[in-house]
Amino acid sequence: MISVSLSWIAEKVEGTLNTKSVEELDIKGVSTDTRELKPGDLFIALVGPNHNAHDHLFKALEKGAAAVIVSQAVDCPLPTIMVDDTKTALGKLGAAVKEMVAPKTVGITGSSGKTTVKEMVASILSVKGKVLATKGNFNNDIGVPLTLLRLEKQHEYAVIEMGANHLGEIAYTTNLVKPDVATIVNAAASHLEGFGSLFGVARAKSEIFKGLGTSGTALLNKDSQFYAFWEGKTSHLNCQTFSPESDEGDYRAEDIAMGMDGCAEFELVCPTGRAAIRLSIPGTHNVGNALLAAALAINVGANLEDVQLGLFNMREVGGRLNVKQLTNQIRLLDDTYNANVASVNAAIDLLATFPGNRVLVLGDMAELGDKARYYHEQVGEYAKSKGITSIYSLGVLSQCASSVYDENGFHFDDKEALVNMLNENLFYEQRDISILVKGSRSSKMELVVKAIEESP
Ligand code: ATP
Ligand code: MG
Repeated sequence: MISVSLSWIAEKVEGTLNTKSVEELDIKGVSTDTRELKPGDLFIALVGPNHNAHDHLFKALEKGAAAVIVSQAVDCPLPTIMVDDTKTALGKLGAAVKEMVAPKTVGITGSSGKTTVKEMVASILSVKGKVLATKGNFNNDIGVPLTLLRLEKQHEYAVIEMGANHLGEIAYTTNLVKPDVATIVNAAASHLEGFGSLFGVARAKSEIFKGLGTSGTALLNKDSQFYAFWEGKTSHLNCQTFSPESDEGDYRAEDIAMGMDGCAEFELVCPTGRAAIRLSIPGTHNVGNALLAAALAINVGANLEDVQLGLFNMREVGGRLNVKQLTNQIRLLDDTYNANVASVNAAIDLLATFPGNRVLVLGDMAELGDKARYYHEQVGEYAKSKGITSIYSLGVLSQCASSVYDENGFHFDDKEALVNMLNENLFYEQRDISILVKGSRSSKMELVVKAIEESP
């Protein structure tokens, strides 16, 4: 974090500093977790449903905290800033640091692909200058301000991922981030239990545009069924579109060709010209992600050479659709990081590009609410329409996907039985075999990947 005084912090969080003698004390870091606190950090005592960090102030003291922000009366020898609500204080401080450093800022939300697009944009912009990007998945109402607090003077760009599991969360984070350009990668059935319906997801995601100033740019997905809705929400802003599927977007792809490694090559066509793009990560859906990343980066100053180089340099993000060649004949597509309907369909699209026997090993997609069975069935239908050979399912819900397949659908109660059957059915095959393994975080499908990799 940039170095700021304790009195500056107290003013920004609208809190009261308990002693004047430390007003000029320099703070260079903020922590909300005593396990990660470094000596000299400011400790913010968050109050969550299960933990109250006010109970851990002695630990913060022990680890060398310089001061604390609290919302409850505490007996603590450290300089203290008292506020009404510590979570709000964290947000205000993150926003103030962002405003002070003033990097060109990109905001990204969506149901799937946020982290991938974020990594792509960061890779492009790092060709030009110093970039701060969200680490991993720090994309909620605590992770976003903590990300902003990592800004240093030399950061010219910030690329911030914003996620949500309830209405209003993105409105809150985008108003801290105040992006120069913002986008919704897509809206698909995920976290439906928090948003009620697919339209609820689209509405929640559209909150991201509330953080754009009047000179900001909204990048809209022209292929989405919610395009018109989002266009209505952004009519007062500069808008541009991206469209991997049609020739109508401001940013579009021509001459898409898929390599044997599942990575695409295409011609990027955009308002500033054309460029040949070669991706280093597999999946047809990454054409759309790359178009969007190019659009976002160009809007904060990147040129087409930066885009070419940055996208080529970008490497796979762990657990997201990694293609591994197990033997000459057997290819494993590890996409076990997480799953919702859009990301399963995107992975099926890639599976469908490989020759021979194509197997989908599916665990449950979580948090789909009342229509969960229907969505699993839809995934089964989609796989069928794309020519996937068989489905092996694990989990109560994903059985609805394999049942669409009749004799080529296999359901299992445990992963050992599934992997045994997979080995038995595929062992004598004389042709190429591609196995896609996918499921929500809670279905732990990486264990199936491990078992396949370890099988004789
Ligand atoms: P999270 O909500 O967990 O933060 P995310 O939105 O950051 O997810 P990623 O981590 O980039 O998304 O990717 C998650 C999954 O979605 C992966 O399986 C990935 O292959 C798939 N995916 C990435 N981009 C797209 C896309 N444009 N459309 C559909 N699926 C995608
Ligand atoms: Mg993410």
